[in-house]
Amino acid sequence: MFITRFAPSPTGPLHLGHAYSAILAHDMARAAGGRFLLRMEDTDLERSRPDYDALIQTDLAWLGLAWDGPILRQSEHLASYNTRLEALEDTGLLYPCSCTRSDIRAALAAPQEGVAFSVYPGTCRPRGMGTRQPGDALRLNLAAALQMLAAEDLSFTETGPAHSGRHSVDPEQALERIGDVVLSRKGEDIVAYSLASAFDDADQGVSHVIRGEDLFDFTPVQVILQHLFGLPTPIYHHHRLIRDDQGKRLAKRDDARAIAKYRAEGATPSDIRRMVGLPNP
Ligand code: GLU
Repeated sequence: MFITRFAPSPTGPLHLGHAYSAILAHDMARAAGGRFLLRMEDTDLERSRPDYDALIQTDLAWLGLAWDGPILRQSEHLASYNTRLEALEDTGLLYPCSCTRSDIRAALAAPQEGVAFSVYPGTCRPRGMGTRQPGDALRLNLAAALQMLAAEDLSFTETGPAHSGRHSVDPEQALERIGDVVLSRKGEDIVAYSLASAFDDADQGVSHVIRGEDLFDFTPVQVILQHLFGLPTPIYHHHRLIRDDQGKRLAKRDDARAIAKYRAEGATPSDIRRMVGLPNP
């Protein structure tokens, strides 16, 4: 069964880039006779807003994209993600980290093209779990995790246009480019995007993850997490990004290209499909 999802963060209005991602995922699911799910990735409790959640639903409905089943909101599952993360606490793979809140906040969010992903230098790595203080984040000791998974086949299938094929996670590259990712922040029940989304993709039976190219380089983290938690690895399809006239990827602040704005100006859903280069059904 082909099951895919559109997983926006309700921290701003949907723009043309989101429309492309959602329409593509929806159309691929419908063409395969599968399911198209909607998941609100609202783990950033400070920036997520109910009015954006509602606007996303309005925009998708207007685009003619009906999702199957109830909406999954990650904010309603934070305790369960943390309980599952606790299973790793005695393995020696996690350590508490007290580096600054803003560093950690950036590390929890989904990485984006053009925003340098900083590899953590490992300052707190020698700390044991027993030294954990309120407000500390938990980081994954990536070298230890890779060592533990040395006998496993850490690979994934990609069907997107730019990287189509089978990809193996290269441990050296992972250490160099990804490093010790933050998995949670204590006290606030906040877990990293990479972890919540690995759990949810498995729980929702997602067979195909369809999302923007900017997340391709981050996929190895999710594959590693899937192996650590015994979760299946879906097929990935990273699609091209919709860019502005200067060639920059559209971001949440690009309200000028918000779907709601085009709608208010009288554009039709077919116009949106044309603008992002997708065929009308
Ligand atoms: N919430 C993520 C974002 O908006 C989606 C990532 C994904 O589809 O895995 O960038």
